[in-house]
Amino acid sequence: MQSIFSKINNKIKIKTTQGRYYLKLADCDETTALKIEDALCRLTGISGWARTVCCEKTIDAVIECCAEEGNKILKRGNKTFKIDARRTDKSFPLSSYEICCLAGNAVTNAFSDLKVDIHNPHDIIHVEIREKAFIYCGTEKAPGGLPVGTAGRGLLLLSGGIDSPVAGFLLACRGMSIDAIHFHSYPYTSLEAKEKVIRLSQITGSYCMGIKLYILNFTKVQMKIKEKAPYPWTTVLLRMAMMEAAEKAAFKIKSKCLITGESLSQVASQTIENLNCTQSRVKLPVLRPLIGFDKHSIIKEAVRIGTYDISIQPYEDCCTLFSPPHPILHGNVKEANEIYESLELTELIDEALSNYELVKNSF
Ligand code: ATP
Ligand code: MG
Repeated sequence: MQSIFSKINNKIKIKTTQGRYYLKLADCDETTALKIEDALCRLTGISGWARTVCCEKTIDAVIECCAEEGNKILKRGNKTFKIDARRTDKSFPLSSYEICCLAGNAVTNAFSDLKVDIHNPHDIIHVEIREKAFIYCGTEKAPGGLPVGTAGRGLLLLSGGIDSPVAGFLLACRGMSIDAIHFHSYPYTSLEAKEKVIRLSQITGSYCMGIKLYILNFTKVQMKIKEKAPYPWTTVLLRMAMMEAAEKAAFKIKSKCLITGESLSQVASQTIENLNCTQSRVKLPVLRPLIGFDKHSIIKEAVRIGTYDISIQPYEDCCTLFSPPHPILHGNVKEANEIYESLELTELIDEALSNYELVKNSF
């Protein structure tokens, strides 16, 4: 964690106590503080954060800080508040209830327009008596889950669509470090389509402590499939080729699994039989965190993580470009592999793998 925040400002100090991280922002200007807050909103492994004021552990100092928070509440145009006090340091001479009463009275005495509302306050001023006293008003959410880096490394097949960035985000929240691979078919797909995927990787990477995106030109593979394979099979065969290429890349970069944004029966290539064909050429586990999600829920997540607006930009992905009008719905694995092998794609896949473009997105 220290390394992330040191990149923003090398004076930031991090301290850990009793399930809390403290970031000391001495000498930080407001722009830096906002950068840090943005990073915290994207940091997996923490459920939330608050900008706090730290003061001496005396009731007078606590009251003074609470009054400052009261002033900010009024400036925001809010009228009601309550104090929520907690005391992990039991040697503090006042109980939590007494702190609430004294600080609450002090705030209402200082600002007659502010009223205490225990049940439905606009704002809550939190007082925590720990090794020092901490006062904050308002908490922000972070993604929660587990810290990235604690659950191995996975290679995300990243398209320009809505689903795959969400799939990457969900596994980052389970602690997985993510690399990404994208296949394009330039000049059949545009440079804008590639730029869009780079942008999506940057946002996905902002939740994964950075991401490396490997971009492969798959035009020759795709053209051979289009020319030689039975038309209804083309999308499934292309997916099989992507899986094979992704697995070879994964072995090189020591990823332990492949990740896709597939969701059961979302489209023809994602029936259970076709998913089975797609993964039949790889040995690594294929993680599909969206398998049981409907599109509505996936879109909600995409909006939340900030990828949706980019995903819906109208640049064609190589899969949609050549998709057959009547695709096979329930492909047979044996038949799929017989056709696949007859295409002799290995050399073209290896060629694509040896000419990759690498985009590094840091946190
Ligand atoms: P959407 O369904 O919203 O268009 P998607 O990313 O899920 O977006 P699909 O066509 O459903 O696109 O593809 C299923 C999965 O296959 C993707 O989630 C992604 O993991 C992988 N995939 C598809 N196209 C590519 C590509 N060009 N490069 C890398 N992976 C891809
Ligand atoms: Mg999809």
